[in-house]
Amino acid sequence: MARATGPEQRLLAIYTGGTIGMRSEGGVLVPGRGLAAVLRTLHMLHDEEYARAHSLPEDTLVLPPASSDQRIIYKVLECQPLFDSSDMTITEWVQIAQTIERHYTQYQGFVVIHGTDTMAFAASVLSFMLENLQKPVILTGAQVPIHELWSDGRENLLGALLMAGQYVIPEVCLFFQNQLFRGNRTTKVDARRFAAFCSPNLPPLATVGADVTINRELVRKASWKSHLVVHSNMEPDVGLLRLYPGIPASLVRTFLQPPLKGVVMETFGSGNGPTKPDLIQELRAAAERGLIIVNCTHCLQGAVTSDYAPGMAMAGAGIISGFDMTSEAALAKLSYVLGQPGLSLSDRKKLLAKDLRGEMTLPTTDDLLGDDMLGCRATWLLSMNGSQDADAMKDVLLPGLALAAAHAGDLDTLQAFVELGRDLNLKDYSGQTPLHVAARRGHASVVAMLLQKGVDVDACNEDGQSPLLLAVRGRHQSVIRLLRAAGAHLSPQELEDVGTELCRLASRADSEGLRAWWQAGADLGQPDYDGHCALQVAEAAGNADVVALLQSLEDRVSAQPQPH
Ligand code: ASP
Repeated sequence: MARATGPEQRLLAIYTGGTIGMRSEGGVLVPGRGLAAVLRTLHMLHDEEYARAHSLPEDTLVLPPASSDQRIIYKVLECQPLFDSSDMTITEWVQIAQTIERHYTQYQGFVVIHGTDTMAFAASVLSFMLENLQKPVILTGAQVPIHELWSDGRENLLGALLMAGQYVIPEVCLFFQNQLFRGNRTTKVDARRFAAFCSPNLPPLATVGADVTINRELVRKASWKSHLVVHSNMEPDVGLLRLYPGIPASLVRTFLQPPLKGVVMETFGSGNGPTKPDLIQELRAAAERGLIIVNCTHCLQGAVTSDYAPGMAMAGAGIISGFDMTSEAALAKLSYVLGQPGLSLSDRKKLLAKDLRGEMTLPTTDDLLGDDMLGCRATWLLSMNGSQDADAMKDVLLPGLALAAAHAGDLDTLQAFVELGRDLNLKDYSGQTPLHVAARRGHASVVAMLLQKGVDVDACNEDGQSPLLLAVRGRHQSVIRLLRAAGAHLSPQELEDVGTELCRLASRADSEGLRAWWQAGADLGQPDYDGHCALQVAEAAGNADVVALLQSLEDRVSAQPQPH
């Protein structure tokens, strides 16, 4: 995530309506036209002197200097008509996405001025419609009209413009009360206070105080190789159903009727609901008809898990876990996934179970480590019947469980995977296979078992690392031997900087490390960036043991018959 550079940052502010620009008419607030003219009168949002000196057009404003060498210039595009956001629908949000697409190359970033009531929905929908974003899109608004003396609108708009103009945060975000949130993680939590939004399951991407603090590791990386794709085909027939104690099965049946194609079901606590057979039967029947049901907790914080029996029963009725997604994000994601042409029901369920835009936190291998119920959970999951829903859930959860079993050296659980015909090449979100994990931990018996089952010995994770490299890093000699015997080799990328690594190990007298690289097939004579090899480094450091080791390993290489 870089700081935006260049003397002028040009932004497009799309004004859709909302309280920020409202005026009182006959005692009620209605969306007000001419926001640019109001902004022009506010010094913190417009530098008239600079605009005149540079002959900026009427609809173009400029912030006072953000830094000594940079100006943020923004044009306000006023939508026609303007909306109280309670009246916004997918149709209007598609128009916003298309406006961004039309102007994408002209501007460095976009601010969407929107009513607060449905801003979390808008941010969620836009996040799915805009794929491969490389520029910031920041929604903001206000609880009090901007022209009033005590308004939050001025600071919110200024903050959104500064964040979009000064930082490359390639996401759909929401800026409110000095906090920049990932848009699809937000929800409106207060009708009156200026701190109207929160992001219950993800910390803010940035916080503004005397300093601006960017939470760099949370900001999504732009994919510079791919271009912006705008998905305008969003399914409108999706719904939101909140369960409550005693909810009648007949009411649920009525709600789930066509044309509804997908529903977000808000459940209790960790994803539970009443276990009444008639209710479960309605859910199961709807799922069998092809209706997609996503389970989200109605709690503000936390995730859907399968820790309790009612949770399991719900899952058994063919429901997809929304983990820690907000209902707003889940509804938007359903609409996006159902709008994708040409996918089978099972493809759609798989897509829903994935984290597409940072909207949910999937359980990681680390969460499963140390889980004393690991074997039980794996057996339960593996034994779920072969419905599409069970398959979708397995696709999400089984890799984590298999990896956790490999991490724990739990041969029995891995054996259960094999007996039920599961492929042990499964990968988690970061591309790790059970072989990676077992190799990193040095579990030779698990590695031997996986190799015997024919797993891919050279599988690379997202960082391009093979199991062999991880075994080398862990100095696990027996694992390296097993992997080499199965034909594993280090890739040219893994060997790229090996000279530097070997010299570093030699300077630290790390014989084990040097031996591990040698066993994995690395050439110990490789020079580092300034031409020294490990032996020279060891000699210079006067480390006789390492010198002796390196010479003996080199002798063994030269004693081997050379291929002709
Ligand atoms: N009803 C207004 C809207 O959402 C509320 C606001 O903007 O704060 O458009």
